[in-house]
Amino acid sequence: MFCGSFIVESYNFLHSITALFLLAVYFLKLIFAFMEKKERILIVGAGLVGSLWALMLGQRGYHVEVYERRPDMRKFGFAGGRSINLAMSERGWRALAVAGVEEAIREEAIPMKGRMMHDLKGNLTFQPYGLEGQAIYSVSRAGLNLKLIEAADALGNVRFFFGHKCTRVQFGESPLLFFAAPEGQAIQRSADLVFGADGAFSAVRYSMQRTARFNYSQQYLEYGYKELSIPSADGGEHQLEKNALHIWPRKQFMLIALPNAGGDFTVTLFLPFKGENSFEQLQSPRAVRAFFEKWFPDALELMPDLEKDFLENPTGTLMTVRCRPWQKNGNTLLMGDAAHAIVPFYGQGMISGFEDCRILNDMLEEGQSWSDIIQTFSDSRPKDTNAIADLALRNFVEMRDLVADPTFLLRKKLEKVLHQKYPERFLPVYSMVSFSHIPYAKALEEQVKQDALFERILAHPQPEAVLDDEAFLWGA
Ligand SMILES: Cc1cc2nc3c(=O)[nH]c(=O)nc-3n(C[C@H](O)[C@H](O)[C@H](O)COP(=O)(O)OP(=O)(O)OC[C@H]3O[C@@H](n4cnc5c(N)ncnc54)[C@H](O)[C@@H]3O)c2cc1C
Repeated sequence: MFCGSFIVESYNFLHSITALFLLAVYFLKLIFAFMEKKERILIVGAGLVGSLWALMLGQRGYHVEVYERRPDMRKFGFAGGRSINLAMSERGWRALAVAGVEEAIREEAIPMKGRMMHDLKGNLTFQPYGLEGQAIYSVSRAGLNLKLIEAADALGNVRFFFGHKCTRVQFGESPLLFFAAPEGQAIQRSADLVFGADGAFSAVRYSMQRTARFNYSQQYLEYGYKELSIPSADGGEHQLEKNALHIWPRKQFMLIALPNAGGDFTVTLFLPFKGENSFEQLQSPRAVRAFFEKWFPDALELMPDLEKDFLENPTGTLMTVRCRPWQKNGNTLLMGDAAHAIVPFYGQGMISGFEDCRILNDMLEEGQSWSDIIQTFSDSRPKDTNAIADLALRNFVEMRDLVADPTFLLRKKLEKVLHQKYPERFLPVYSMVSFSHIPYAKALEEQVKQDALFERILAHPQPEAVLDDEAFLWGA
């Protein structure tokens, strides 16, 4: 009898202890879950920057929703409307490495070790971009965008909603977004944090523009661009030197060509909209052919579909966007082209957007709070993106005009010698921008100093000899 009740009581006791233990575990789990609560994040735009940022955030365990205006490129193909390929360099590679996709992108990328200049007679001059082994890379815009979307989607905690066009954002403690969804539906979504990565004509930025004390400017170039093509040879090989960015500089306008993995080149003509040698004048197949015969005869030989491509392809516009602040209420932030669209002549538009992602990711890694990250980034980043905007505008003049100028070519040669002699003291600005992580604002400062230095060197009767004279170069 005694033995039986002892067993029953022990059983009840153990039962209660187990129940208490399970209850404690449950509450601990709740506490940990609360402590680890991740913000719900919404990104507008699944372009290059939005999809890379979604991938980085997904890898950090956030629940991310990405709303994209275009249809899903995995089902319907890519409808980017802009350059078919892009130049990728160091800052971009680093961001892709952080997201673990660098190697996959490098597999398809084509190194371009320098500029190959084509003069009017078809003579070629090669100008390396950096030191031996340094190159920028030609990558496919569609291929890159697709890989980023696939990698983010595969995580499971990143969801893409295609065919959803953001029409307006209502800012507040919890931002509310309005979308035109497929089949004419109008939907609303809220989130803890919103990132506007919806490109140069950003709807998120447009909503910010209508709030107090938001500064904004957009500046169009008087130039447009037209994409054309040099197909591969019959055997599939490239018809021009594959490992170079080709330039036909013609002072007031230029043609460039970047290699693609399929053996073809994407060719881009940059031309004024109006006036002599302008798009306005090239309205018929005959006018287009005559223009190419006169200015780009060696390229024309390789462009069998020139007239058709020229008249069918759209003429793109080029603009610089500057604005600030990039954030609202510590919970909504602009990034990529939405915050800082620039002209493409330094090949740094996408790359500066990728650097945005890498910098934000570093701040998260350091354990900073979201409100601090958003405020600090909005305060500190524009000085660098404004600097690369200025450098890109300046590089247009260099590409279309100076690369064929003998004084400029001498300067480029001397820059290389100077860097080899004094690597600690002198790094060409092109290398700072393309092969380093030196902030863009610092590179712009250096540009001013290097211009002054070369003005003195080139004014000297023996510019090459003076490179040994440290007192002349750097002062006493
Ligand atoms: C001719 C040319 C050549 C270039 N070459 C280079 C180069 O060599 N190297 C380089 O680094 N950069 C280059 N760039 C710049 C580069 O293309 C941009 O900087 C880059 O695409 C910016 O990426 P993003 O994701 O911020 O914007 P985008 O690529 O424009 O992506 C924005 C996305 O948001 C979506 N979207 C837009 N509005 C909405 C909305 N209301 N709702 C939902 N979704 C929306 C768009 O459909 C798009 O998918 C070039 C640009 C041009 C024009």
